[in-house]
Amino acid sequence: MMRLPLFEFRSPHTLDEIARMLDGEGEKAMLLAGGTDLLPNMKRRQQVPRILVSLRNIRSLHEADFDGTGARLGACVKLSEIEKDSRYRNGYSALWQAASQVATSHIRNLATLGGNVCLDTRCLYYDQNYEWRKAINFCMKKEGETCWVAPGSDRCMAVSSSDTAPALIALGARVRLKSLAADREVLLTDLYNNDGMNYMTRRPNEILSEIRLGPSHRWKSAYWKLRRRGSFDFPVLSVAAAARLSSDGVVEEARIVLGAVASRPLLAEDAAKTVVGRKLDEETIANAAKLASKIAKPLSNTDFDMSWRKKVTLEFVTYALRELRGDDMSAERRQLLGHG
Ligand SMILES: Cc1cc2nc3c(=O)[nH]c(=O)nc-3n(C[C@H](O)[C@H](O)[C@H](O)COP(=O)(O)OP(=O)(O)OC[C@H]3O[C@@H](n4cnc5c(N)ncnc54)[C@H](O)[C@@H]3O)c2cc1C
Ligand code: SF4
Repeated sequence: MMRLPLFEFRSPHTLDEIARMLDGEGEKAMLLAGGTDLLPNMKRRQQVPRILVSLRNIRSLHEADFDGTGARLGACVKLSEIEKDSRYRNGYSALWQAASQVATSHIRNLATLGGNVCLDTRCLYYDQNYEWRKAINFCMKKEGETCWVAPGSDRCMAVSSSDTAPALIALGARVRLKSLAADREVLLTDLYNNDGMNYMTRRPNEILSEIRLGPSHRWKSAYWKLRRRGSFDFPVLSVAAAARLSSDGVVEEARIVLGAVASRPLLAEDAAKTVVGRKLDEETIANAAKLASKIAKPLSNTDFDMSWRKKVTLEFVTYALRELRGDDMSAERRQLLGHG
């Protein structure tokens, strides 16, 4: 049995108290939301904070408000709450589809949106227990010096494996970050670095307090996820797409985002540009899919063959854009779950 290392547990009642507790502690203090990623990581000694600061008692973090200007989602809104709430099943469908496909229903009852957005990057050489990692002399991401995926590389290429991050970026999400000194708001896409070790621009003393979405009116969005087991598994490739459509189906604005092909979600900007000003006909979709798959460069540090994963990018962008056009994609979705 893997045991948790010793740590000090703090459970404050206000965001200001949390900010004070994080201040000056650096990497020694970490925030605990649902704990579904952090606690297993601590058992495997991938992360060993001396202090855990719980977010559970901060009521505002659990609230979700919707109005004509968009949505404000507290960081501790649970993935199961998103899954059950019909307000996410309109223009925000990509978020609903992504949240509903994270892990299992038991885990989604604990897992939070903020924790999913801040999820650690993953790699076959890193997501192992302590003894396994010790046997290979560890790796650069934790305690070692070599990258076993690309020896000679000075950058870790562990994979961004959050399901909701690509969906939220496609929806143009912004996040609020609170620390003792300041409160700032950034586009979610700017929260990530393409670096498996230093994968977030969030500072250790910042609390991600809320996620903001713009209005969903006239937007359509979709999320497609490739994983080994249809029942539950981390994504090894995902595509999120969102578009604002005119009444006659012309794309006015669009974002296409690839997940699990780099250490951060990747915006496929050329692909998105190519659909703007056009209807989503087969030729436009094929052009966008080709452009998006060009930037997908999966590595061999996760499940499935990397060249096949690149090919699936093309398929998934095609599926996502057809879904935005209004096609019935239920047969393709059933196939992915293994019930085809
Ligand atoms: C069996 C299994 C399967 C899984 N499958 C998937 C999957 O398919 N897809 C997927 O995306 N994830 C998956 N996960 C990972 C995890 O369950 C989810 O990512 C979950 O949403 C994490 O949220 P949490 O609230 O539990 O985060 P925690 O574990 O509490 O925290 C995760 C990280 O985020 C930080 N953090 C949390 N909240 C904040 C905040 N408000 N501000 C700043 N930092 C914060 C923590 O300090 C920690 O570093 C799986 C986990 C397990 C055990
Ligand atoms: S990509 Fe390299 S450094 Fe990063 S976790 Fe994997 S083996 Fe370690």
